[in-house]
Amino acid sequence: MNPIKWKLHWQILLSLVLSTFIAGLILPHLSEDFSDFFIHFFSFLGKFFMNALKMVIVPLIVASIISGVMHLGTEKGVGRMGFKTFLYYSLSGTFSVIVGVVIVNLIRPGVVTPEVAAAMLGTGAENSVSQGLLEKVEGRGAADIFKIFLRMFPSNIVDAATNNGHLLGVITFSILFGAFIGRLPTDHRETQQKFWDSTQSVMLKLTDCIIRFAPIGVFGLVTPVIYDTNLGDLFGTLAWFLLTVLLALCVHLFINLSLVLKLVGKVSPIYHFKAMAPVLLTAFSTASSSATLPLTIDTVKERANVSNKTCSFTLPLGATVNMDGTALYECVVVLFIAQLYAATGQVALSVGDQLLVVFLALATSIGVAGIPAASLVAIAVILPAVGLPIEAIGVVWLTDRILDMCRTSVNVFSDTVGAVVIASTEGERPYESVN
Ligand code: ASP
Repeated sequence: MNPIKWKLHWQILLSLVLSTFIAGLILPHLSEDFSDFFIHFFSFLGKFFMNALKMVIVPLIVASIISGVMHLGTEKGVGRMGFKTFLYYSLSGTFSVIVGVVIVNLIRPGVVTPEVAAAMLGTGAENSVSQGLLEKVEGRGAADIFKIFLRMFPSNIVDAATNNGHLLGVITFSILFGAFIGRLPTDHRETQQKFWDSTQSVMLKLTDCIIRFAPIGVFGLVTPVIYDTNLGDLFGTLAWFLLTVLLALCVHLFINLSLVLKLVGKVSPIYHFKAMAPVLLTAFSTASSSATLPLTIDTVKERANVSNKTCSFTLPLGATVNMDGTALYECVVVLFIAQLYAATGQVALSVGDQLLVVFLALATSIGVAGIPAASLVAIAVILPAVGLPIEAIGVVWLTDRILDMCRTSVNVFSDTVGAVVIASTEGERPYESVN
């Protein structure tokens, strides 16, 4: 059997199995010099792949959105699609945080003895790894939420395009640009349309080429993570926290989103999961919605048969503002930390505080960048807003990477569900010609 002929998701899965085998069973038995050398080499492969994906993000989303939006025709068309997208993002985000809040209150991973809670909060605050993180999050507050909305209209578009966390500004600019092409006289409009359609085709071809290297890139990204994770550290209270997040993510993925697919999108969830496997695996390996975006657009278009105009409008926007997994994670982390504080005898959060957490998690998840560990900054905004110290964030440092990989998969999967559902309500028939 030739692995090169396997479907992309099987190749990626094979590379995940290989990286687990090499990081878990081979590298620990080599001398430190050798294992260091291999880890550096694998990280280099991973970085190479991430850089290549990041390289295409800005030109791909600009060309995709402009070409998608200009084909929506009038501003009315843009408005209708915008309204549906906004509705889907708000509802899916709300359902995900509700699941998070219910499950963390049922499992109550932070309800432990006062000694255990004090020890965890103590190590969290002293955790040397978290010092770098603290520098990043220090001085955050609820007022930061307004900054998220300011980013929609950047004062300098070139600056926004060079800053990974500010894609929202690039998206707003591209939507406006595409919409206003519709107001040009015919000859100018046609020139613009030809230019942006062909630019998008070039970007998609380039993306296709980069995606072929996904199995190697994924191997390079995941092997160092597995090698650096000490499973022994993940037992005890932290294991319950880990399980709580995983369970909540699974409920949202396999129940909420699957029901939406079936009932609103009229698409078989199993079929959609299968088709989106490469996207899920790449999101898992890169822990970045933005880096996965080129693959997401390509896959939803090719495998789910969703039109260019729907993909181009919903997917870039989704990768930046629709973060179900992130919102859910923010809620569970803050409530877990609150449970630990309550266990040490300090004040517990009231129902009103919990509602505030839900609201802040939804609002901040919009502004979280689609890059690894981005939600930690949002959590740093929420903690002080409900009277908890920012330093407590160190408690979840050890589990953050693995949970980042999982929540990013949910974030991206929800974007693909949004594209399929919106396409269905616009009269398209996703999967029709591929079924
Ligand atoms: N890594 C996540 C993403 O890219 C964001 C986060 O929750 O940290 O979607």
